[in-house]
Order: sequence, then structure tokens, then C-alpha cells
Amino acid sequence: MPRAALLLTLILPCALLPAQAAPGAHQHGVVTLEVAIDGAELSLGLRAPLDDLIGFERAPRTAAERQAAAELLRSLRAPGALFEPSAAAGCTLAAATVQAPVLEGGAAGADHAELVADYRYQCAQPQALRGLKHRLFADFRRIARIDAAVAGPRGQALHKLKRPADTLSWPQ
Ligand SMILES: [Zn+2]
Repeated sequence: MPRAALLLTLILPCALLPAQAAPGAHQHGVVTLEVAIDGAELSLGLRAPLDDLIGFERAPRTAAERQAAAELLRSLRAPGALFEPSAAAGCTLAAATVQAPVLEGGAAGADHAELVADYRYQCAQPQALRGLKHRLFADFRRIARIDAAVAGPRGQALHKLKRPADTLSWPQ
């Protein structure tokens, strides 16, 4: 077996480690955001305790809770200005996937439940990507901190954003 191929199989899973936070291990008030820049594609992976987004981590029980859950899912599936990549990069949203099984009639798990959202943008000028403005703190008052991992052509970096910081920047 070529040595290089063996090394790659060993190294690649480690590069993805920040994505692997186990459900139930979360800390209320802290969401994680994975940012990956790959060619013209910018992808964002948001993982948040449901408590931070809607105030409970179980199936909705009342009409008001069901409505709040539906509105949350609808708004995150059309995120609008929730995330704004550098304007000069000319990024447009190409795909959005939002999953929160507990809110959608799925099996309730243990004590905690999360929402996972993935967004993919296509950028006309990806080299102009310098950062991202976000409205997570503005729209969700329970979120106190964002642990962001950025992976791009210049390597990887971890950033901790504390309320009210609304911009995630990375060196170009
Ligand atoms: Zn929780």
C-alpha cells in the first residue's frame, strides 16, 4: 500500500474532528459553526442546542409551541440575512438543510436535543471572502458564544465569538 495513501486515511478523519460533537454533550448558550471554503463553495454547518433557539428540547406540546417550532424551521431554511459572507465575494445560497428531529415528530432522545443546519453558498469571487456577518446573537438571545472552526485555503483556525460580536473574520 502506498505510504501516502495510508497517511491520508489516518489524517483526514482528524481534520473533520470539530464536526463530531456528540449530541447530548452540548452546553447551553454555546453553538458551534463550521466554516469551510473549498474552491467557489462556502459551506456553513451550524449545530445548536434547541434550548438556545426555542427554549425547550422536547417535542412541542401546545399549539403555541408547535407554531414556534414551525416558524423556527421555516426561518432557518430560508436564512436570509442570518449569515452574510463578504459582499465582495458575491456568494449566493445554493442549498439549505435543517434538521431537528425532536421538533418534527421524531423520537425524543435523551435529555438534550439539537438542531443541525447546513448551508452551501456558491461564490463568484471566493478569493474575496474575508469573513461572515451573522445575526445569531441578534435573533437568538440565549446564545452567548459561538465556537467557530474555519477551514480554507489558508489552513484552519478556531474562533470564539462572544455576544455581541456579529462578525467572524479570517485572514486571507
Ligand atoms: Zn440541552
